[in-house]
Amino acid sequence: MTFTIVFLIAFIASFGLRHWLSQRQIRFVARHRDSVPAEFAEKVTLAEHQKAADYTIAKLRLGILENGVSAIILIGFTLLGGLEILNIALLQLLGDGIPQQIALLASIVIISGIIDIPFSWYKQFHLEERFGFNRMTKKLFFSDMFKGIGIGGAIGIPLLWIILSLMAKAGDLWWLWAWGVLTAFSLLMQWIFPTLIAPLFNKFVALDDGPLKTQIEALLKRCDFASQGLFVMDGSKRSAHGNAFFAGMGKAKRIVFFDTLIEKLNPGEVEAVLAHELGHFKCKHIRKRLFVSFLLSFAMFALLGWISTKVWFYTDLGVMPNLNGYNGGLALALFMLVSPVFSFFLTPLGSLASRKHEYEADGFAAEKSSAKDLISALVKLYQDNASTLTPDPIYTAFYSSHPPAPLRIANLQRFK
Ligand SMILES: [Zn+2]
Repeated sequence: MTFTIVFLIAFIASFGLRHWLSQRQIRFVARHRDSVPAEFAEKVTLAEHQKAADYTIAKLRLGILENGVSAIILIGFTLLGGLEILNIALLQLLGDGIPQQIALLASIVIISGIIDIPFSWYKQFHLEERFGFNRMTKKLFFSDMFKGIGIGGAIGIPLLWIILSLMAKAGDLWWLWAWGVLTAFSLLMQWIFPTLIAPLFNKFVALDDGPLKTQIEALLKRCDFASQGLFVMDGSKRSAHGNAFFAGMGKAKRIVFFDTLIEKLNPGEVEAVLAHELGHFKCKHIRKRLFVSFLLSFAMFALLGWISTKVWFYTDLGVMPNLNGYNGGLALALFMLVSPVFSFFLTPLGSLASRKHEYEADGFAAEKSSAKDLISALVKLYQDNASTLTPDPIYTAFYSSHPPAPLRIANLQRFK
């Protein structure tokens, strides 16, 4: 019973906090809808500012609805007995053993995925469409979905098989082995994702020779950065939003520009955006984030190793553990469903670290490229993406991986 109460308190607090933060953000953005902040008055029109406010609010309203639905799903699976029913039905169908546990976990993923379809559909073909950002066809929506399921199954099922076998056979320290397997796997993914998986969804072509390429190569040389080539990705087949990123590790690093970014920014601005991304690499942010994620997953596995041996972990969350000892699948399922309720409260720490990294990367870009170009690129991207210039400070402190535009630009202005 005790754990039921602990879970319910954390559940209500996290659901309530999410809801309250979204409502705050909606009110704040709505209150500032009718005037462009003074520092942007010359660059952003009132119509653009209002579009950003409306887009931000529409996304938040959808998020509030999703928050409610996922709360119902969570309670349905746990305290209302959904997982218990599913587990018993699959035991009758498949008997006990690893296939039954994989089927249990796959069923949860499939059920949650099906419930998510109307939300993704509405988001892409109504919300994004209404604001002019959708470039995706309905055919592509389904082909992405089926490719995702195929790849997820091809990678996820063997990986689950290994982890569940370790849980059943590797003794008390199974979680340490499982963590090792998962860590090795995520390092492998860093390497195979850009070369094998991403090309299944997008086309990558080498950046054409020309002034932009010359300018980018000069920047790479100045920053002493070796990469496996410059690529342009057809991001425009899904969305009008633009971006630049790197993918891969070590010698396999590729620099990727969305075609939409190159369309919208001039070469100087593209260079400044890339310099910012290089800043993340040179300031070791990417390595630090990977290291922190390994530490966190270590802690999570240690916790799972301990909690999965406690009968109350199952009974207090609405399921009976299996008597035959094959509880790995149930433990993983419960942990997957319930742990986000608790880890949600760590969000502000991650956001804070991320905003600090953004300032550092901006500093790097200002030094190696140009603060002025980065500012004009940011303003264009804010306009084009209809990002709000007036976020609520508490919402920002909790969630935002990037500092609000006015603060970020004020910081860059120090370098001019
Ligand atoms: Zn950044």
